[in-house]
Amino acid sequence: KGETNKHEFKAETKMLLDIVAKSLYSENEVFVRELISNASDAIEKFRYIANTSEPDQIVELDRKCEIHIETNKQDMKLVIQDRGIGMTKDELIDSLGTIAKSGSKNFLSQLKDSGSIDATNIIGQFGVGFYSVFMCASHVDVYTKSSSPGAIGYKWSSEGTGSFEIQECDDVDVGTKIVIQLKPECREYADEDRIRNVVKKYSNFVGSPIFLNGNQLNLVQPLWLMEPKEITDEQHLQFYRYIANSFDTPRFKIHFKTDVPVSIRAVLYFPEGKPGLFEMSRDTETGVALYTRKILIQSKTELMLPKWLRFVKGVVDSEDIPLNLSRELLQNSSLIRKIQSVLTSRVLKFLYEKSTKEPENYEKFYKDYGLFLKEGIVTTHDQKEKEDIGKLLRFETNKTGDNVKIGLDDYLKHLKENQKDIYYLAAPSRQLALNSPYFESLKKNDYEVLFCYEPYDELVLMQLISFKNHNLVSVEKEIRRATSTEESDKLFEENLSKPTDSLSKKDTDDLIRYLRKELGNKVQTVKYTTKLDQHPCVITVEDMASARHFIKTQSHQLS
Ligand code: ADP
Ligand code: MG
Repeated sequence: KGETNKHEFKAETKMLLDIVAKSLYSENEVFVRELISNASDAIEKFRYIANTSEPDQIVELDRKCEIHIETNKQDMKLVIQDRGIGMTKDELIDSLGTIAKSGSKNFLSQLKDSGSIDATNIIGQFGVGFYSVFMCASHVDVYTKSSSPGAIGYKWSSEGTGSFEIQECDDVDVGTKIVIQLKPECREYADEDRIRNVVKKYSNFVGSPIFLNGNQLNLVQPLWLMEPKEITDEQHLQFYRYIANSFDTPRFKIHFKTDVPVSIRAVLYFPEGKPGLFEMSRDTETGVALYTRKILIQSKTELMLPKWLRFVKGVVDSEDIPLNLSRELLQNSSLIRKIQSVLTSRVLKFLYEKSTKEPENYEKFYKDYGLFLKEGIVTTHDQKEKEDIGKLLRFETNKTGDNVKIGLDDYLKHLKENQKDIYYLAAPSRQLALNSPYFESLKKNDYEVLFCYEPYDELVLMQLISFKNHNLVSVEKEIRRATSTEESDKLFEENLSKPTDSLSKKDTDDLIRYLRKELGNKVQTVKYTTKLDQHPCVITVEDMASARHFIKTQSHQLS
């Protein structure tokens, strides 16, 4: 009584294998990626051992560190062979016979203290990748021989249904060869073109050469892992064209690495050309691919940069991301959110620096891609990000020359004493803006006013809300601000004291009463203002005055 017994969990191996094989990965093609990653790890381990052991401790020191893939359509077979470190019998039982046991992780932790191995080159860590082969295989034979002198070759066989066999085998090459008998429904993986596509998609930057039926597939270097200073313009050009699938030259590039809050290595490119309809569409997928240790996780992922930066192309690699995350898990991962936030602020910082250090290049960029920045302000909910983008906007004002644009930082430098707000005016052209009755009131005070010539500019500034604690205020809104009784009384007094055609206070009150009655509920209100100069009256709306201007211009054009 009261005695507690400790029990070990038992697992139904067959079921467990089924879960690993069928539920861990969203697409079955990733088994190719997993086997190539293992081959690459085996080669990295061989390289390490070869460098650190006595020459007589290891055989075939001069072997070719390559991965070879062969397809056989007729027999529905796929073979993946590496000349890596190979496995002993114990290692076979241990690594391929124990689910969720990673020989690679073990290898690394044994060597950690020596500090002499670059851990980022080893991909495996969870000990489940190998079993993904059973998503597509009805039968798998693994031929392997360890690299120690006198090692014996073995053949490991399994159908992935709970048991495996091991037997000694002659004529086995040092390294590992995996022979996969495909299930009929997966026969596509015995097709050379299909395999070429899968390898190019996921494993194109793997550290060792990959040959498919004798031809090398991976000829492009994982440039993002190189030292920025060592990369030539030509290398960037080739790489950009490769990943962006285009023929232009990038206008800007960003290459950086961070370790906190996440480890990231990234190369990002801004295209040279103006955006096409393709980039314009919000349905277009973003152009930054996510890698971990040179292996692709997702090619066109929306997760790396916000949608408004969809014209940026590039690669992000983070060794912190586990390979076998499903799409759904990725989407909800806080790690991914951290990466996105780091990348976005890098891009914004980069553009800001361009705008101050190379204003001419920046202006060209702004002309082509300014619309995307504006989309960013309208679509982001983060006020800091809005303002970081806001810094990059450019407008003409009443004080600039024709076609000269300034940023909001400059605007703030020109603030008048007592001026708190940033004013903007929507009008289809500079001429109409300068002659606008709405502009009058501010002109009187010598305030600077941003001119918005595009219909959406006003929406953008409205959505920006404020910039460095200064509210963005439409001039119409400014006019609508109530004129105080003192102000209007003062005006009427002034008018009395000099000969003028202005109306008296009584006449004005009568006029207002008359207008209110005549206009009825067509208007919200009719009131005095002291803010006009040349014009007797104006009509104002609270927000989006540009809509009126642009509807007007259009109807002019139509009539
Ligand atoms: P992980 O790669 O995450 O460790 P896997 O299930 O992919 O897990 O592989 C399990 C283990 O089997 C590896 O850690 C490694 O020790 C061993 N292994 C798999 N493939 C090979 C190979 N081609 N050569 C040598 N060892 C291998
Ligand atoms: Mg693996």
